Amino acid sequence: MRYLVFSDIHSNLEAFEKFLGHKKLKQVDKILFLGDLVGYGPNPDEVISRFRELPRLQAVRGNHDKVIADLESSALFNPAAAFSAEWSKLNIAPGNFQYLKNLTKGPLVIDRFITICHGSTFDEDYYVFSQFEASESFRFMETSIGFFGHTHFPIIYFLRNEKLDVVPLAENTRIKLDSRTRYLINPGSIGQPRDKNPAASFLVFDSGKMEIQFTRFTYEVNKTQRKIREAGLPELLASRLEAGV
Ligand code: ZN
Repeated sequence: MRYLVFSDIHSNLEAFEKFLGHKKLKQVDKILFLGDLVGYGPNPDEVISRFRELPRLQAVRGNHDKVIADLESSALFNPAAAFSAEWSKLNIAPGNFQYLKNLTKGPLVIDRFITICHGSTFDEDYYVFSQFEASESFRFMETSIGFFGHTHFPIIYFLRNEKLDVVPLAENTRIKLDSRTRYLINPGSIGQPRDKNPAASFLVFDSGKMEIQFTRFTYEVNKTQRKIREAGLPELLASRLEAGV
């Protein structure tokens, strides 16, 4: 079985449409999404509409989805995130708003051997940025393989014989998984990469070959930036896209 895993679209229609046209999308059996369809970017409604058309999809919600769907307040967000959350609420049609509200809260176990979650396996808002945080997330994971988003940073944490290791995912990496190791893997972000590379990323997990293949692609960053500025969203949300931070 081949699974495509992607995360953090953040209302970036240009990146998302390029992703939807990627040939690898047609070569997989299932599509797994790790949360944050919306927030930050200028096209929340269009992104939700296109997302809803995806076939063979299983998805969990992200922290921005939860706040924009009015399930939690934006009080704990930084000012740019809170502003864009309130702006997004006004720019989503009722049907898509309801869809956002109904997204599943993670973690979700897929086919009895893969866990998908937004932040961590025990809290969708918890960031896994370090080995300590990864070890916490491993403790609460019931499967050997887990995928998480939220940090927008492509990386693999390994746990073998109680020893934890970490490797960032570089472009076109292929990694063989082995059955005695547990994994927590982040595919990076479609709509707002933060590893100093503005190119969007996702990965394909082939469970037959037990292999991860990481992919990056470029999109029209300038166009998204222009729309962010035209919408009157915070400048930081435009400038960070070309720096990939
Ligand atoms: Zn996010």
